[in-house]
Formats: sequence, C-alpha cells, structure tokens
Amino acid sequence: MFKIKNEFDNQISCSSSRDIINTDNCVFTSTSSRPSKSLIDCDLYKEHIKINKNYDEFSYIKNQNKSLEYFVLIETINFIKNKFNEEINYDDFSISFDNITINENANSNNIIYCIDNQLFEKNNDKKENSFNIIINNLLVIFKEINENDILIMNYLNLFTYPNAELLIIISLLFEKVIIYFCKILKQNILICKNYKKNDLNNIIYVFIKHIYKNTNKNIYIRQLGIFIDNNILETIKNYNIYIFNYYKNLQDIILNINFQDKEYFFKNYTKRLNIIKFSNECCHEFIEYNILNSNNNNNYFICKKCYDIFCIY
Ligand SMILES: [Zn+2]
Repeated sequence: MFKIKNEFDNQISCSSSRDIINTDNCVFTSTSSRPSKSLIDCDLYKEHIKINKNYDEFSYIKNQNKSLEYFVLIETINFIKNKFNEEINYDDFSISFDNITINENANSNNIIYCIDNQLFEKNNDKKENSFNIIINNLLVIFKEINENDILIMNYLNLFTYPNAELLIIISLLFEKVIIYFCKILKQNILICKNYKKNDLNNIIYVFIKHIYKNTNKNIYIRQLGIFIDNNILETIKNYNIYIFNYYKNLQDIILNINFQDKEYFFKNYTKRLNIIKFSNECCHEFIEYNILNSNNNNNYFICKKCYDIFCIY
C-alpha cells in the first residue's frame, strides 16, 4: 500500500499545470506499453510473467452465494472506515456491477464505487485496451462526482509508465489517493479521498477526453508526458516488488493445499474483514502446512475453528 498526497496544484498555478498536462505531449502507438525499467525489478518481472496467475488462494469464494464484488466492497469500505475514520454503512449500497454505483449519503460524503469487471485479469485476455476502459470510466465519473466525494476504483498494474502517469493525474483531482493490492481481485485498488473542484478539473477533463478519442482496441498510449518524481518512481517500484513476491509465495502455498483447505484461507480473510466474528477464546485446533519457497522454509498453522493463521519460524 502507498499514498500519493499531491500538493502539486497548491504549488503551481493553473497556467503552469496547463503546460504539464498538455495534449501535445501525448504519444500514441500501435503496440501496448512494455513495462518500464524505472518501475519494475527486471529479474523479478521475468520470473513473474512465467508464474501461473490462475492460482487463487480464495477460490473457495465460488462456494459462497455472494459475489466477488460484494467482498471487495466490504474490504474497501472497511479500509476507508479504518484509514479515514468515516462512518459508512455498506448495507446502504445498492450494488449493480454493470455500472458505476453511487452511494448517496446524506450525512457524509458520497462514495462512487467503480469496480469494472472488464478489467478482471481472467476476463480480459488483452482483447480490450484496459487503459482505454479506465479512461472511459473516468469520463463517466467526471460527470457524476461532486466536491469531497470518495472514489473507489479497480486500476491497472503499475508496471508501465503511462499507467503510472495516469495515476499521477488522478491524484491531482483528490486530496489523497491510497493504492493497495486487493488480494481477492488480484488487482490494484485506488481509494481516492475528497474530490477537489478547481480550475485543474477542466484541463484534466479535456486531456482525458483527448486520450479517449485517440485510443482504441488497436491504438495505445505510449506516454502522457507527465513528469514523475524519483521518489514516487522508487515507491512504485518497491510496491511492484511486493506484488511479484506475493505471487511467488502464493504459488508455493497453493501447490501445497487442496480446495477444502482453501476454506480456511478464505475464512481467515473474512475474519480479518469482520465479515464473520469469533470470540477471542479458542482452543486452537491446528492444521499444518509446510510451505517451501526459495527464501525460507516456514511452517504455517491454521486453526480449523477460528481460522487464525500462525507462522512458526
Ligand atoms: Zn483457534
């Protein structure tokens, strides 16, 4: 997880943002972007692309009568409650995942919830231009969003430069943006707090519209011409290393457990989200997993009754 708190527009006047966010700096191309050396560790990336991404420690979710999106909603709302101290009740949400859902909250800020299943890795075998899908969603959100609203959206990987540039642009629109890797979606989620209304919005709207018009299934963006600070590049690179290692470890774990055992992983996850509640008193009954990976050899224990995971070094 990392935060981008942008003070960009406090420091620069609107005329200089006009120079920074300039459609003339956009470069389009007929091939999708390659990962950028400034954003990834190349050796880990080479390993990463060979890993089978269909491994899923939460595949037990398919046994639930609630959808994947439901769990993502609860996860993100709990995240907002904890990080931002907002009082939100997810029972207020009417969920329709074909569209962007807006929770109109009379007492606090509205939440715009935009989890687009076209962006789910399994659905999108590079048939669609994911960047273009995000751009299109942003144009719809622009029309709906009001000052101080919160936006939750699933986002692209941060391996390529244009994806990182677009993140910087989105961060200019909000007071604070938090990026975290959602394990049940296996995707980045952006939680954007307090939409700001200022002169920059129009410049960004025109810019995004320009990208939308010029990209399609076969035309991609190579660069948006946005300068990214070295500290931010380094932060994103470390974040990507965390994701590569996550998949690497996941592969080791999944090879050692069967579908029934995944119930415990899933329930451990829902417990951490407070979806299911347990008393603190438990006479643990452990199942042991030997998880081998290249760095260490750990034994994990999951309690069959309370779903806590323990790791003994
Ligand atoms: Zn227990």
